[in-house]
Order: sequence, then C-alpha cells, then structure tokens
Amino acid sequence: MEIDSKNAIKYAAQINLEGFDFARQEKLLRAHVLIVGVGGLGCYAAQTLCAAGVGEVTIVDHDTVQLSNLSRQILFCEADIGLPKATQAKARLLSQNYPATVNCVVDKFDENMSAVNGARIDLILDCTDNMAVRLKINRFAAKSRIPLISGAAIRMQGQLFTYEPKQTDSACFECISSFFTEQNAACSESGILSPVVGVIGNLQALQAIKLLATYGDVESNKLSIFDAMTSKWSEFKVTRAANCHACKNSTL
Ligand SMILES: [Zn+2]
Repeated sequence: MEIDSKNAIKYAAQINLEGFDFARQEKLLRAHVLIVGVGGLGCYAAQTLCAAGVGEVTIVDHDTVQLSNLSRQILFCEADIGLPKATQAKARLLSQNYPATVNCVVDKFDENMSAVNGARIDLILDCTDNMAVRLKINRFAAKSRIPLISGAAIRMQGQLFTYEPKQTDSACFECISSFFTEQNAACSESGILSPVVGVIGNLQALQAIKLLATYGDVESNKLSIFDAMTSKWSEFKVTRAANCHACKNSTL
C-alpha cells in the first residue's frame, strides 16, 4: 500500500522526520491495531493513531456512553449518550477523514470473537479498566505473539507497560500484574483529572506508532508510572516470571 499525493501532504510532518520517510508512513498505513476499551484511554489512543495514519483499527467495547464520561472521553458528545461507545467512536473517527478503516465490535473482549480470531492484528492496545479482561487480552497477545501496550489511569496516576512476545525475555502483563493498579471503581467514582488519561492514551499511541513503524526505541521490561500531582515519572525494571502461565510458551 502506497501513500497517495493527498496523504503525502497530510503526513508531510511525519514523513519529513529524519529517518521516518515514506517507508515508515506506509508501514503505518498497512498496520491493523486492535483497541480494547474506548473509554478515556481508548478515545485518545484511537484518535491519535487514526490521525497519524494507521490504516486499520478495530475497537472492542461493550459499554454505552454516559454523561459522566464526557469530561475525558473525547470522541463522544451529548447526542451519543446511551449509545454504544464502539459505534459512536467509529462514527466520530470516520467523520474526521482519516485514511483508516475503522471496525467496531459492541461486546466484551473474547479471543474467539470473529473480529479477533484469525484476524491479522499487528498490535494490541489494552485501554480497559478491569483486571480480568486485562489478563485475558494479555493471554491472547502471548498466544498470538502480538505486541501489547497496556495503559491505566485513575485519580492522579497513570501507568504504561509494553509487552513484546517475540522477545524471549520480555515480561508479559501477567508477570507484572501485581504492580498494576486494580481499578475497583469507575473513574467517575474514584476521580480522575481528565488530562491524565490523555497523557497515558497518547503515550500508548506513541509506543504503538514506534513499534509499527520500527522508529525509535520501545523498551519492554519496564513499568512507567506517572504521578500527575508532581508531573514526574518513575520507571521500574521488571523481569519475566519464570513460571508465568501466560507467557512461558509464547516464544518459539
Ligand atoms: Zn508472563
């Protein structure tokens, strides 16, 4: 798939980056990203990926838009209240004239769903807020050997973690899940400052673009935690758990 003259102008700023060029923009155009969860994180990540020229995204979310979502779930407006987030996110993204094909599934994530099972997926973004679903996504990523970028944001803290199953020593989400914040209550109850989800969602998109375009460095085995009260990052080195059920058989 080649960049046409219109997209050459639209993406000139990225194409002009040193070492990026048309070849990496074309890699983005050929890429298919699965985004699970289109709440705060997923809205930012999906919009940034589509705006940057990713060619196909599939959005999976079973939930509907609520008034209390609108402060941070930027793809939705009051007219969307009560409607499925996945369909409304797709409609908004398509209205913005990005080159992306946008697929949506109004359902809870399951590796056997037809949009996922057997599909060519280059990368997964976990933008959910539920530990059981996160572990399910991680196991699918490990089994399918698809890179996974997990994000979380609650109150005044954000977390970011990248798992690359094709790297033999890469810790998976399950290896480090005890460090990840379990979200026991919705953001509307626990509280969150709206831009915190933007910081993490956009960083998930940045990591995704770097991996898809093979541009810059993306470190695995690192958990990054953002303290929005001080605007400081902490980075923790993590290692693969020897007996992790999710990833022990993922490398060939
Ligand atoms: Zn593991």
